[in-house]
Amino acid sequence: MSALTETLPLADRVVNMEESATLAMAQAARELAAKGVKVINLSVGEPDFKTPAYICDAAKKAIDAGHHQYTPVPGIPALKNAIVTKLKRDNNIDATANQIVVSTGAKQSIANVILALVNPGDEVVILGPYWVSYADVVKFAGGIPVIVSGDINTGFKPTADQIGAACNEKTKAVLYSSPSNPAGALFSEEELKAMIKVVPEHVIFMADEIYEYINYVGKHTSMGSLEGAKDRTVTINGFSKGFAMTGWRVGYICAPQWLAKATDKIQGQVTSGTNSITQHACVTALEDYTNMTKSINEMGEAFLRRRDLLISLLQEIKGVNVATPEGAFYLFPDVSYYFGKTAPDGTVIKDSMDLSLYLLNFAHVSSVAGEAFGAPKNLRFSYATSDENLKEAAVRLKEWLGKLA
Ligand code: PMP
Ligand code: GLU
Repeated sequence: MSALTETLPLADRVVNMEESATLAMAQAARELAAKGVKVINLSVGEPDFKTPAYICDAAKKAIDAGHHQYTPVPGIPALKNAIVTKLKRDNNIDATANQIVVSTGAKQSIANVILALVNPGDEVVILGPYWVSYADVVKFAGGIPVIVSGDINTGFKPTADQIGAACNEKTKAVLYSSPSNPAGALFSEEELKAMIKVVPEHVIFMADEIYEYINYVGKHTSMGSLEGAKDRTVTINGFSKGFAMTGWRVGYICAPQWLAKATDKIQGQVTSGTNSITQHACVTALEDYTNMTKSINEMGEAFLRRRDLLISLLQEIKGVNVATPEGAFYLFPDVSYYFGKTAPDGTVIKDSMDLSLYLLNFAHVSSVAGEAFGAPKNLRFSYATSDENLKEAAVRLKEWLGKLA
């Protein structure tokens, strides 16, 4: 490539966009590992388990059965029907197949909905701490993210009053995850009902439920099942987390039909239907309920054990204030005690980004800085890795945090 082509201007929308902090940290960890450093990767949020065998077997069958062609843009009928049944069975959501749009990951599902709803200048209220990509996708559409946050003292959830006060006539949607990434916070039925009362009727709820099955409390309530929200909720979900299928790339929405149709139109111009083999495997993933519950329970037990292990190890480290999350697979401690301290090489740790980089470069443990989630006092550690890795990571964290003076 010549120097000239390298300096041609890019579109503002990409210049102004932040790189995904979770993916950037994961990449930094991989690059260090490629140099031969034994990095413990607690940055990217992905189950370390293999996809359950019953789902892999279904994919192999789909290949042999010749499902190799383009699929309908919003998904194959069998998968849309399986999702409709799942939504009734697991979420008490009444839906029809034409409300379902299957996409290449929940990430694309979220982008589709935002692009379909938001005009330049429109606002989206995002409940924080929030997943990295939400705010940037809203900005990508020309919209304005309005962040309302809780912190470690409020269970990492904003109150209904805060949420209501953030809405106005320009608000298009309220977007949140439950269980949440990064804090593992769960919105209870009462909290969701309180939200419905204060959020004006012209506002859509975008409920990202991708961690639905990684829940240590037991009760998951879906906004889309509640009176006053049923007709204005987009339920977002996918197979990456609960089924350990991150690389297979499949997510979906259940939306009011007019909105589902709009996202179908966008997807038809941008990516078309997602992978045919994956979709067939996902039908089995949902319909073989015995194997589904078995694998979810097995992974859930391991996540719970690891959560408690890492909490107990972090509690032994001075200045790490860690809460017990109710779901997902992240710890999100307040580490602001270390801000302003100096590293052995003389660098001052100003914020959570500096601390995250210090821990990567010296302790060789990767994390994600809280700034990326709208919570600058915190660091996110994913515990979706082996017990051995977690134990070793804690030893290293204690040693290197202890060197900050
Ligand atoms: N929402 C949340 C809260 C997430 O943590 C993730 C994980 N990447 C996604 C959506 C997107 O998941 P995927 O695109 O892998 O389905
Ligand atoms: N959701 C995961 C995370 O937050 C995967 C990375 C991503 O897609 O951003 O780490």
